[in-house]
Amino acid sequence: MAGAQKVTRKDRDIEKLIRIIAIERMELLFKLGIEAVKRGDYEYARRYGELIKRISMRTRVKIPKDIKRWICKHCHIIMVPGFNARVRTRRDGKALRVVTRCLSCGWIHRYEFVVRGGGKAERVSRGVKEEKGGRES
Ligand SMILES: [Zn+2]
Repeated sequence: MAGAQKVTRKDRDIEKLIRIIAIERMELLFKLGIEAVKRGDYEYARRYGELIKRISMRTRVKIPKDIKRWICKHCHIIMVPGFNARVRTRRDGKALRVVTRCLSCGWIHRYEFVVRGGGKAERVSRGVKEEKGGRES
């Protein structure tokens, strides 16, 4: 007879496996997306970005940070600096401000890295359609 505890452990193993597979797929789609952008195939790049989001939602596995950062929150295209994205960094004391702009839809993404005692924290602020300023404190 199947014990409830055994099932739980097996479920956890499956969950772990799903996570590994999901991340593997997201990384593959991300690479394909970058290649598509370099080819000028923006429609494909957007589809790859959407697929990554869908995998994340369906499997409830978070998109790795270094992938998520390059998917436009607004149009879901994969952003590649020098091709369809513009990146600017600015050092502000202990904070490093990174502004990424999607050249496909104009969405601006702001990230802030705060270096604190050896640890590195990432803070993501919400994207805005137009540069307005005065929202940062
Ligand atoms: Zn966009």
